[in-house]
Amino acid sequence: MSTLASPAPADAAPADSGFRAAVQDHAADLIALRRAVHRHPEIGLHLPRTQAAVLQALDGLPLEITTGRSLNSVVAVLRGGLPGPVVLLRGDMDALPVTELTGLEYASEVPGAMHACGHDLHVAMLAGAARLLSAVRDRLPGSVVFMFQPGEEGPGGAEPMIAEGLLEAAGEHPVAAYCLHVLSALEPFGRFSTRRGPMLAAADTLKVTVRGAGGHGSAPQFAKDPIPAACEMVTALQTFVTRGIDIFDPAVITVGTFHAGTVENVIPAQAEFGATLRSFSPATRERVRQGVLDVVHGIAAAHGLTADAEYVPGYPVTMNDGGEAEFAARTAAELFGEDRFAWTANPVAGAEDMSYVLERVPGAFVYLGACPPGLDPMTAPLNHAPEARYDDAVVPDGAVLLAELAWRRLSR
Ligand SMILES: [Zn+2]
Ligand SMILES: [Zn+2]
Repeated sequence: MSTLASPAPADAAPADSGFRAAVQDHAADLIALRRAVHRHPEIGLHLPRTQAAVLQALDGLPLEITTGRSLNSVVAVLRGGLPGPVVLLRGDMDALPVTELTGLEYASEVPGAMHACGHDLHVAMLAGAARLLSAVRDRLPGSVVFMFQPGEEGPGGAEPMIAEGLLEAAGEHPVAAYCLHVLSALEPFGRFSTRRGPMLAAADTLKVTVRGAGGHGSAPQFAKDPIPAACEMVTALQTFVTRGIDIFDPAVITVGTFHAGTVENVIPAQAEFGATLRSFSPATRERVRQGVLDVVHGIAAAHGLTADAEYVPGYPVTMNDGGEAEFAARTAAELFGEDRFAWTANPVAGAEDMSYVLERVPGAFVYLGACPPGLDPMTAPLNHAPEARYDDAVVPDGAVLLAELAWRRLSR
């Protein structure tokens, strides 16, 4: 039995793109691009060398290219020969502050920086999609925006790119947006995976300072001890999650820092802690925001203390459009075979700033397994690990899927 929904009539039979055959002419180049980027990882929003590599890879293609003002982004617009809507394809291109321990021949040459999340493969796949789509430009009914994005691992590059006009780059607002993310573990090599609805979490931060009055540890009645109250807050936050949040629309609260005091016999004047807050829907995210502030202020007041509680919003929920996720699933299975696609069972509690694009444009975030042969995906080092390895033999297929998603969506 097929695991996929039957195709909707409106999507039936787009003209053959020929991308699977065409990509063979580019495969060696794209893998070389990936390895060159891998050798020289750059972190954050300032990626001049990576940007230059992207511009070189796009050189000679019929693209309208703009680079970012406040970050080293690249936005390339391909205008098809036929009228039609706009589709956006995204690849992030930043690395992590990790010292590489893979021992690969093309390992990072930059101490303390590594493409540990596989964004180097994303750069090559998106450049490949630009080449494939450029070759069918005359037959392309609409425009494609290629979004090469810095800063996904922080401080966030999608939001500034949107502020600099990303979604107006082709004139009209895109009707759909897609991206691929490689996985060094968990998925078998070459398998695509996605889901309808939430794909990754919203990741917000809570910073709390509980203020009391210091004193002698032997005479707490003359002080206002912030430590027991802060400890109550930590446990009450867990109670809030289990009693106040729908288990089918869950949240995770982890208090990761807790600091107070200097010596055993002194009551400190204040205690501080910080927590990460993960949620998978805008409704639960708002419930968590209000709930954690109520818990902190309520417990402080109960003990005659005050508390400063700062809620710092991070990336929102990465939300796939149901129809676009179905479309991406069907496209992957039709192109590569049903054994090359599996639905993702659950969202991941990590976060992604593709979420800012998907808040504004319906689309799909799709995983692609890149676990090297010989490693068990269930035990291989995960994304972000210093030992994480990605088999770049997946790069041509990734380029084909991105190009095909744009081709079929525009042809609809
Ligand atoms: Zn990452
Ligand atoms: Zn990533």
